[in-house]
Amino acid sequence: MKKLIVGNWKMNPQTTRDAVKLFKDVVREARTITKASVAVCAPDMYLNPLAALKEKKVSLGAQDLFWEKEGAFTGEASGAMIANSGAKMVIVGHSERRARGESDEDIARKVKAALAAKLIPILCVGERERAGEGEHISFVTAQLTAALKGLPRVDASHVVVAYEPIWAIGKQAKRSATKEEGLEMAIVIRRTLAHLFTRPVAESIPILYGGSVDEKNAKDFLFDAGMDGLLVGRASLSAKTFGGIVRTANTGI
Ligand code: PEP
Repeated sequence: MKKLIVGNWKMNPQTTRDAVKLFKDVVREARTITKASVAVCAPDMYLNPLAALKEKKVSLGAQDLFWEKEGAFTGEASGAMIANSGAKMVIVGHSERRARGESDEDIARKVKAALAAKLIPILCVGERERAGEGEHISFVTAQLTAALKGLPRVDASHVVVAYEPIWAIGKQAKRSATKEEGLEMAIVIRRTLAHLFTRPVAESIPILYGGSVDEKNAKDFLFDAGMDGLLVGRASLSAKTFGGIVRTANTGI
């Protein structure tokens, strides 16, 4: 499968003008890419103006959705709203949202709502810390099971899973995961998905790594750690750095 590189802009940038500029710069960087798919998950209010640019090379995604279809849910956005704004995918269960109270049940509902709206859910899983022997394995297995159990196989094959160890995410992270740690978790996740949905379905589900990815370590995760792509936070706010990561996915260099 083609490598999938997704940028998560989080709550950036602050104006539509800056969002359009950053997006156009990313599109320019991705222009010659043929062996990787590229997407950017932008704040909801930028989806329409970015979609209006009608760029084919870089897909759009949102960073969250609500599971209800419509109604009295102040501040929320439904799957249909997001899809109708031009997004093809949506991040679900990011650790920054889990930390603010999102439960496994909420996340399972959001995965279903995304699929019902024909959006690809990028389901984020990952342990807070590496504590005792193998605890991270049972923790991530439980997160995956809670979010995906009972999903029809046809739906499961439209899901993307992102392994994002919380200790490796963001400015305060001391380091990214190593390629060995990434490989272990790619195997654990694939095995759990096979257990939930059969092996062929598990093999069709892209597994991304996220957590302090930059131009230097992208290659390790993409080509030595069994990952099908990357979810990139901070480094996606520089078109040049993000472009470097995308080119690595494209060429393997
Ligand atoms: C993220 O929060 O999804 C992420 C991967 O962030 P960063 O790349 O900045 O560690």
